Amino acid sequence: SLSDRLGGVFDRLRGRGALTEADVRSAMREVRVALLEADVALPVARKFVDDVTEKAVGHNVLRSITPGQQVVKIVNDALVEMLGSENTGLDLDVTPPAVVMLVGLQGSGKTTTTAKLAKLLSGRERKKVMMASLDVNRPAAQEQLAVLGTQVEVATLPIVAGQQPVDIARRALQAAKLQGYDVLMLDTAGRLHVDQALMDEMKAVADIATPNEILLVVDSLTGQDAVNVAQNFSDQVPLTGVILTRMDGDARGGAALSMRAVTGKPIKFAGVGEKLDAIEPFHPGRVAGRILGMGDVVSLVEKAAQSIQAEDAERMAARIEKGKFDLNDLRSQLAQMRRMGGLGALAGMIPGMKKAQAAMASGAVDEKILLRMDAMIGSMTVKERAKPEIISAKRKIRVAKGSGTTVQDVNKLLKMHQEMATAMKRIKKMGGMKGMLSMLG
Ligand code: GDP
Ligand code: MG
Repeated sequence: SLSDRLGGVFDRLRGRGALTEADVRSAMREVRVALLEADVALPVARKFVDDVTEKAVGHNVLRSITPGQQVVKIVNDALVEMLGSENTGLDLDVTPPAVVMLVGLQGSGKTTTTAKLAKLLSGRERKKVMMASLDVNRPAAQEQLAVLGTQVEVATLPIVAGQQPVDIARRALQAAKLQGYDVLMLDTAGRLHVDQALMDEMKAVADIATPNEILLVVDSLTGQDAVNVAQNFSDQVPLTGVILTRMDGDARGGAALSMRAVTGKPIKFAGVGEKLDAIEPFHPGRVAGRILGMGDVVSLVEKAAQSIQAEDAERMAARIEKGKFDLNDLRSQLAQMRRMGGLGALAGMIPGMKKAQAAMASGAVDEKILLRMDAMIGSMTVKERAKPEIISAKRKIRVAKGSGTTVQDVNKLLKMHQEMATAMKRIKKMGGMKGMLSMLG
C-alpha cells in the first residue's frame, strides 16, 4: 500500500524537524504511482501531486509519528478536500415541481439510481415524486423504469409509444405540474460512448425541462476513461453534481477524484448495490482511504496527534536521555493510555506496557485497572514516586490500603515499573526518544 511505500521513502528522514522539498518530491513520486494505480486520470494525478507538494514542504513533522505517516496524512487531507469535504444533498428548494435529470453513459446505472433517489425522496423526505424515462433508444427502457416505479411505490409517467425525448419531457413536466408533484425525476438514454447526438439530445431536454439538478451518473469502475466522460458531459450540459455507482464493487476510487477535478461539481451520492435502497451520501474520507489503501492509518495518526502533548514528549525525552523513568512517568503513561484507548506513545514499545496494551485490546483489561494503578501511585509519597526502591513491605501495605487495592497489586505495579525502567535504559542505547518514536509507526 501507499503507506508501506512511504514508510520506505521516509526511513532516512527519521528524527528530523521539517520536510524539505527534496523529501517531499521523492514521496510524491510514490503518491503519483499510487494514484495512477487507483485509476486516477493522469492529468488529475499530476495536478494533485503539485498541489500537495506545495502544502507539504516545510510542514513540521509531528514528534509522535513517523514522517511517512505525516505525509500520508497530508495527502489524505488533500484528497478529502479535493473530493469535497462538504456533503451536499439535492437542492430541491424551489416552486414545485423540482426537476432532477440524470445523465450518463449506457449501463452506468441511471435508471436504477433514478428509482433509488425516488425511493429516498418519497420515503424519508415525504415528497410526492414522479419518474419519467426519456430513453427511447434501448428497447423496453421505459418499461424498466415503470417496473422499478411499482417496486418503490413511485408514480411513473404513462408510456406513449413513438414519442421523442423532448416531447416526453414536456409532457412529464405538464403532468407533474397539473398533478401537484413535488419532484419530477427524468431518466435519460445513454450511449456506449460519448457522442454528439446524445449530447444534443441532453441539451434539448435540459432547455425544455430547466432541471434544478442535472446529475452525471458514472460507474466508479470506469477508471481512466472517467475523465473523458466527465469532460464531455460537463462541457455541454450544466451539471450540478455527480453520482458514482458500483462503489460496492472493487473500484479503487480514482474515478471519484477525476470526476470531481474535471467537473468541479460535488459528488452527491454513491450507489452501493443493486437493491433499491443501496444508495448513500458520498463519503470523501472513505474514498480517500481507498485510494491510499491505508485502512485506518490516518485515524491512528490523528489520534496520536491529539493525545500527545508536545511538552509531555519533550519532558519524557529529557528523562529518557538520562536513563530515568520513575513512577510519575509511569503515571503519565497510564493517563495517556486511558486517553488513547490503550494506545499510549510508549505502549507497545515496552514489555510491561505491551502486555497491558494487548490485554486492553482484547477486553481482558479495562479502564478500571488503569485507574487502579493510578490510585496506587496517587497513594504514594513524593519521595516514593521518585525513588520506588524505598517502598518497603510496610509502605506497600499503606499504599494498598490508601488505594483500596492489595499488596499483590502494588507488587505487580512495581514490577511493571521495573520492567519499563529497564526498557528505558535500552531505549537510551537505541538513540533515545526520537529513535524510539520513529519505531512506533
Ligand atoms: P443505465 O443504462 O444507466 O440506466 O443503467 P441501469 O440503471 O440499467 O443499471 C445497469 C446495471 O447496473 C443494472 O444491472 C443495475 O442493477 C446495476 N447497478 C446500478 N447501480 C449499481 C450499484 O451501485 N451497484 C451495483 N452493484 N450495481 C448497480
Ligand atoms: Mg437506463
